[in-house]
Order: sequence, then C-alpha cells, then structure tokens
Amino acid sequence: MSAMKQLTILMYHYVRPIKKSIYPGIKGLEFESFKRQLDYLSNIHTFITAEQLIAYSLGNQELPLKPCYLTFDDGFKDHIDYVMPELLSRNIQGSFFPPADAIVKREMLDVHAVHFILASTSDYHALVVELNGAYREYGGTTSNLESLQNTWYIASRYDSAEIMYVKHMLQHALPLHIRSQIVAKLFKKYVGRTQSDFAEELYISTLDTKTLIENGMYVGSHGCRHLWLNKESKSSQILEIDLSLQFLKKVGAPTKDWIMCYPYGAYNNNTLNILKSKNCSIGLTTKSGFADLDQSNMLELRRFDTNDFPQ
Ligand SMILES: [Zn+2]
Repeated sequence: MSAMKQLTILMYHYVRPIKKSIYPGIKGLEFESFKRQLDYLSNIHTFITAEQLIAYSLGNQELPLKPCYLTFDDGFKDHIDYVMPELLSRNIQGSFFPPADAIVKREMLDVHAVHFILASTSDYHALVVELNGAYREYGGTTSNLESLQNTWYIASRYDSAEIMYVKHMLQHALPLHIRSQIVAKLFKKYVGRTQSDFAEELYISTLDTKTLIENGMYVGSHGCRHLWLNKESKSSQILEIDLSLQFLKKVGAPTKDWIMCYPYGAYNNNTLNILKSKNCSIGLTTKSGFADLDQSNMLELRRFDTNDFPQ
C-alpha cells in the first residue's frame, strides 16, 4: 500500500459567519467550523500547493506523505474576507476557482441566485408551488411538469426532495430561457434585491482576484459562464475555456500548466481533449473520494466536500 498515491482534496464554496449573517439559512460552512477543520487537517496531513501538484503531474516532483489540497469554488467574497486571511495566518496556500463572468461582469449566476432564494424562505412547499406556477406562466404544460416532478423530486445526501427539485429545475432541467426568467422572478420575490447589487457583494472583483495571487494564493479556471460543459458543443466548450484563460491572463494567473475546476463537476471527452490541447495539467471534479494520483489521469481528480470531514 502506498499512501503517496492518494491525495485528499477538499472542496469549499461559501465560508462565512453564517448564523450571524442576514442569510442564516445559506448552505455553507461556518467560518469557525472552517478554522476547526483546518486544525483537524493540519494534525493529519501536509498541505500542498497548486504548484507542487502541477509539478507532480509533470513528473518533476514527488508529493509529501498524506498530502492535502484545498480548493475554493465560485469566487465568493467570503474567500477574500475570511478564507485568505485565515490561510495566510497558517501559512497554507488555497486554490481559488472564480467563474470569469461573475467576477468581470458582476453578474449573478443562476445557481447562486437559487441558493439565496432557498435561504430566504423555510416554506419550501410554497416555493415549489410558486415555481410550478411560474413554469406554467412561461409556457410549461401540465404533462411536462408531471414528468419533471417524477424525475427530479428526489432527496439527496444533504437536501430534501423539495429543495432538490427547486435546484434541479432551476439549475439544469428547464430550458435556459425559461429557468432564467423564473429565477429572476423568484429572486425578486424572495430575496427582494436586484441581482446586480447582490452580485457586487457576493463575488470577488478583478482586483480581489489579483490580491489573492499577490498573497501567494493560486487562481485557476472555473469557466466563464459556469456552464455544464458536458451539455455544450465542442466549439462552445472551447470558447468557454478560452474566455476563462483570457481572464486568468488578465489577472496574472498562469495559463500554461494550469488547473481546471469543472463547473458542477461536469465534463466529457471533448472537454478532456480540449484541456490536453491547451496545456492544462489538472482537472478537478466533484466526484467524492480520494484523488487517485495516477499521472495518466490527472484531469479527473476526485474531491471531498467539506461536509465529508469533521468541522
Ligand atoms: Zn462552481
């Protein structure tokens, strides 16, 4: 048994003082829990940097025993307000994966709008009724709705069937133009803020992204519009990846031997071929488990969710 062949990668999204915030219902990691988790991980593991992982993938360097690698998705302000200072105080590097459009255009991604809609109510049944009503209003039929409910009204590891139904419907099950309208309508009703104001507060800016890099953090690609790449044509995937690389270049992040973090963990063979042609070294999925450090398969590394470890 070789302990060196497995890497523990952790995946984080929201990390903030949640209970004290105005959205105590947001599904994320309490900042205090994050600190405890870092204590726990520090006792067991050796944290590695993105550069060490890339050097390993190129065959240039071995990794320490019990390596652990920390990743932060989606470019939240949390990452510069809470995560970076905490990591700096512990001399740990984090890897950050902001979706380019959210950062540059200050656009709210639907996936996050849905999180704050859900965090703004506890009556999920009423939310489902509201969602179904909006779906009919924007042209959905009752028979389609029944089949959608049969497919997506299913509880997950972390969420009830009602919550999962809202997430599935508004993140991918409905056609983009319908779900964007429904998200906008529900966001207005439940959150009561404009999405542009909200995006300004939710996401790091271009300047913040540069600050992460100046402080020794790693910034990699999380796409441009945060799309399900496996549902896009090859040319659309190329565009999406190229735009994210332009963003990385602009903020001073590496674009040769770089790291891709698939939005929603979604990719296909086209994605892998595109990444190989663009000198991508590492691909991060959302499949749960230890990352198998087989150098031939570094574009499909598994990650643990923060909830899989003591907090
Ligand atoms: Zn993401």
